[in-house]
Amino acid sequence: MKKTGKSDFVKTIIVAGAAGFIGSNLSERLLKEGNRVIGIDNFASSSRKNIEPLSEFENFSFFEHDVQEPLELGENVSQVYNCASPASPIDFAKIPIEILMTNSLGMKNLLDFCLQKKARLLQTSTSEVYGDPLVHPQKESYWGNVNPLGERSCYDEAKRFAEALIMAYKRKYSLEVRIARIFNTYGPRMRKDDGRVVPSFIEQALHNQPITVFGEGKQTRSFCYVSDQVDGLVKLMNSGFTGPVNIGNPVEITMIELAEKIIELANSKSKVIFKPLIHADDPKKRKPDISLAKEKLGWEPKVHWEEGMKKTIEWFRKN
Ligand code: UDP
Repeated sequence: MKKTGKSDFVKTIIVAGAAGFIGSNLSERLLKEGNRVIGIDNFASSSRKNIEPLSEFENFSFFEHDVQEPLELGENVSQVYNCASPASPIDFAKIPIEILMTNSLGMKNLLDFCLQKKARLLQTSTSEVYGDPLVHPQKESYWGNVNPLGERSCYDEAKRFAEALIMAYKRKYSLEVRIARIFNTYGPRMRKDDGRVVPSFIEQALHNQPITVFGEGKQTRSFCYVSDQVDGLVKLMNSGFTGPVNIGNPVEITMIELAEKIIELANSKSKVIFKPLIHADDPKKRKPDISLAKEKLGWEPKVHWEEGMKKTIEWFRKN
């Protein structure tokens, strides 16, 4: 059993989605700081393996629970991080109704739980609320360009609804809430088959298979290493700022650049091949404006993307 770090202010914190990529990295950070963490997850798109390193901490407990069911717990809780949602375009195609219900009914259940416990809620919202953005880079004040009927709408609209519900609870009940809009994040514990670009390219590179760039590969994304992401979330939760606030890395690259860099860093023999765009409404550009996070949270990412990619490739090699 790992002892948790020393802290005079041990909090009891719920992480919904603790077996997911961001949820498990976040839980580990909170445990290392000495907090008691209660993880919940229904394993809709996450992995039991991600719980294993957390279970080594004496202050960690876990129960399998779907947030679509009301949450009941005897003990006091001071903070709830909501990371419970499938988030990959493959999931959008496979389980759209679950995604809509998790982010609506599930969100409401967590908000009601927070009201009852007088706990503060942090929602991991998403850059997808901006849709295929018409302004660049994206500031929090931008209302977005979302196709409400398209394949991505189960995620985009559900996350937009969740933000609206959170703000309604804040206005009506003065509930303490925080909204982070997460931009593309990568690192250890991503699902290797979740279809997202970083795990896909890394897996292909490690097996010397063709790297599948969709479309012309000129579309851009801005990738944030998971330790930076988690740091931003913790700073927001403990700040006096409601948000929404963008948490992401503003260094923007094309998918071709990403493919070539991963081939180089993985020392791979893979070649880039082009495939038709498979995801409808695939945003052409995405880059966060993070001036608000800098001003309100004193946060900005520290890990250079090449360094983060190297660490991620190493993790995939070992796992
Ligand atoms: N992409 C790609 N090849 C892949 C997987 C994704 O070229 O094997 C592209 C995808 O079309 C998109 C970008 O990479 O333009 C990022 O996709 P991802 O699914 O990781 O996340 P998104 O930001 O679109 O939610």
